[in-house]
Amino acid sequence: MKNKLIYEGKAKKIYSTDKDDIYLQEFKDDATAFNGLKKDRISHKGEINNFISSVIFSYLKENSIPVHFLEKISETEMLVSRVNIIKIEVVCRNIAAGSLVKKFGFEEGKELENPLIEFYYKSDELGDPLFSEDHILAMKLADKNDLDVVRKMTKYINTLLIKFFSEKGIKLVDFKLEFGKDKNGNILLADEISPDTCRLWDSVTNKKLDKDRFRFDLGEVEESYQEIKNRLS
Ligand code: UDP
Repeated sequence: MKNKLIYEGKAKKIYSTDKDDIYLQEFKDDATAFNGLKKDRISHKGEINNFISSVIFSYLKENSIPVHFLEKISETEMLVSRVNIIKIEVVCRNIAAGSLVKKFGFEEGKELENPLIEFYYKSDELGDPLFSEDHILAMKLADKNDLDVVRKMTKYINTLLIKFFSEKGIKLVDFKLEFGKDKNGNILLADEISPDTCRLWDSVTNKKLDKDRFRFDLGEVEESYQEIKNRLS
């Protein structure tokens, strides 16, 4: 099933398979933050994030979101449709945290009146800078129509995920999405959705149950990822 290693990122490996249009996505325990400056391992993260991403992708698929996810095939692996990743990280925010606080002076925990969507250029060398729709068009990373589709999908995914997490006693503070195009030019949600890529706070206590525990050495990192997994089980 697993053929050639196509790509190795910070948290995942992508392999080709016997089928030309199917890739295998493997989740690793490695964790990085601050553009790779902080590095460590979070034990069992690979299997926890594979589980959480599979549950969330299945839920989104049931709700008509086109996703690259096909099926979970082992503790740490899933099969996905082969896509060309669009080099944009789409961040959607409901509550102020992270760079919104650091760069723009928002008060952490302040609820935003409307979801705030931001685009970051997916480039490790350049440190994933925030950029605008005009940059994206100038750099020809996507066209106007692609961006409209991505924005619409992101807003709908946000609505679905807020409902999904709130039923589990979790506030969806913010999250990052990546999209790709399949061989027919369809835009599919790709990558992963996990505590590595979302900020998730307990609805009652506001306890952080996501990668911020790793970023800022808050302790109970594995336990918090496991807590999210348990609530989704
Ligand atoms: N995020 C991500 N990958 C990145 C940058 C951000 O998954 O390379 C997620 C992050 O976990 C958070 C959201 O996107 O849920 C917003 O991140 P922010 O801009 O606040 O940056 P950070 O402070 O996390 O670097």
